[in-house]
Amino acid sequence: MYRIQDSPEVAWRLFQYIKASFEEKDINPIPLNYYLWYQYYKGDNPQFREELDQVLKDDMGYNDRIGRRLYNDYFAVDSTTSEFDKAFRRLVNLMVQKINSWNDKLDSHTKQLEYSTEELKKDNLDVHQVKEITSNVLSTATSMQETNQMFQKHMLESSEEIKKLRQQLLAVQSQVLQDELTEVGNRKAYNMAMEEMLQDVAEFGSGCCMIIADIDHFKNFNDTYGHLIGDSVLRYFAKLIRRNQSKNEDIFRYGGEEFVLLLRNFSLDEAVKRAQEIRKQISSAHLKLKNSDQEINTITASFGVAQLRPNLDDAESFFNRADKSLYKAKKDGRNRVVCEISL
Ligand code: GH3
Ligand code: MG
Ligand code: MG
Repeated sequence: MYRIQDSPEVAWRLFQYIKASFEEKDINPIPLNYYLWYQYYKGDNPQFREELDQVLKDDMGYNDRIGRRLYNDYFAVDSTTSEFDKAFRRLVNLMVQKINSWNDKLDSHTKQLEYSTEELKKDNLDVHQVKEITSNVLSTATSMQETNQMFQKHMLESSEEIKKLRQQLLAVQSQVLQDELTEVGNRKAYNMAMEEMLQDVAEFGSGCCMIIADIDHFKNFNDTYGHLIGDSVLRYFAKLIRRNQSKNEDIFRYGGEEFVLLLRNFSLDEAVKRAQEIRKQISSAHLKLKNSDQEINTITASFGVAQLRPNLDDAESFFNRADKSLYKAKKDGRNRVVCEISL
């Protein structure tokens, strides 16, 4: 599953780093972790590097579950889609073979017909010869029809197969772009949507906004109630945001307890209103532990909102501006929405 393609010297040097890092950070020496650390030291994917750095800095530290998520977010798509690539290529080759053999058959039938036509042009043909030529023409025509029908059947089957493959591919792609825990888009989906948004900016102009939502004191929450209940809260929070999701809005889990909403055709005021709505809903929710009546502490979240500046912003500066507002919301006491104008 985890393929490594460097020269033995490079691989050996990287392996030394990885071994030292595993010992220092007490990482499980399993293939998944070797693969991730290998990618980390190679440094081809700066976003992955940054996120792993962040995880390693976090008090909770790294574990194999986080590793699997990172692998899915950053690397899994390549191996799954290449399987489909291969299947598609096989199918296309098969179709080309069929078309070629159909062409060959058609050629030989055409030659047979040409030959028969020439024969018919001859003088002095007796009834017996004409009968024979006509019967040849008839059998060639029947055979052509059969070949044609067979070809059509094959083409129909192939196009059904292509349809099926496409559906499977779409299903896998949507899984690859979905956050497993909360079922909203994952980081990869966010990156893709952001690219699209920057391309659509000509259409929406300054009507593109971003909300970053970050649950307050979530580390304390996990420490009090445990990670599993923490996970349920993340699922609940995502569900709550999705409840009022409009068609101009995409929701992503950016990482950990941080969610991003990308909004099209929203003014800054409308985006702030949307963030306030989510803030009020989460802070007024009465959450209970399953199978018990015990209420858990109120959950609050802080929000940073920014509006895309056409021709000025790129993905990073747009995000950073929303993040700066979020930082201010945290600093000012949390459970609030901050946008640039109020900075
Ligand atoms: P702040 O109000 O400043 O945002 O404080 P915080 O504790 O929420 O922020 P911090 O970034 O220090 O910690 C984020 C915590 O989120 C750390 C980790 O315990 C928790 N977390 C990240 N991912 C997950 C997850 O998948 N499940 C659970 N249960 N907790 C997670
Ligand atoms: Mg937080
Ligand atoms: Mg956070």
